[in-house]
Amino acid sequence: MQRQTLYAITTEAAEAPGLCAPRNVPVGSKVCRVSGLLSGAPTRTSLQIGASLHIDSGTAEWRFIEHSCAPNLEMDFTDWSFWARRDIAAHERLTFNYLTTEARMAAPFTCRCGCSECFDTIAGFSTLAPSLKRRLSDHVAPHLRDAEIHRPGGCIFGVAARA
Ligand SMILES: [Zn+2]
Repeated sequence: MQRQTLYAITTEAAEAPGLCAPRNVPVGSKVCRVSGLLSGAPTRTSLQIGASLHIDSGTAEWRFIEHSCAPNLEMDFTDWSFWARRDIAAHERLTFNYLTTEARMAAPFTCRCGCSECFDTIAGFSTLAPSLKRRLSDHVAPHLRDAEIHRPGGCIFGVAARA
């Protein structure tokens, strides 16, 4: 069986390298799975998969997936793969909301995604105001949800914290 590449690296002028869909990607499609080296601390190219566990992309292509506050990809936390949360057009850049996996970013930045619901400063889920955390409640990784549920005064997802 021949594997199809769902993405390609692009280096558009005056832009950082990113990944683009080389063809239309229907909603619900798996795009790629996260792979790399496990680490106890975040890096510029890692993705947080547990309370104190990060996976560094190394040279894997998924490191080029950019942040967006209205992304076209979302994480499937059952197998740590990116899937299309809406139809993605050919040549569209692949994006993911870093705030749905990262408690604290190794390299915080100001978002310029331009969407109406932009989170502005992308420094990690734990740095967000409660109202912004609530906006992500259906999309955050289990380790972020657990940390929030067990944080003193942190029952923002409608689950009471344990005494
Ligand atoms: Zn944004």
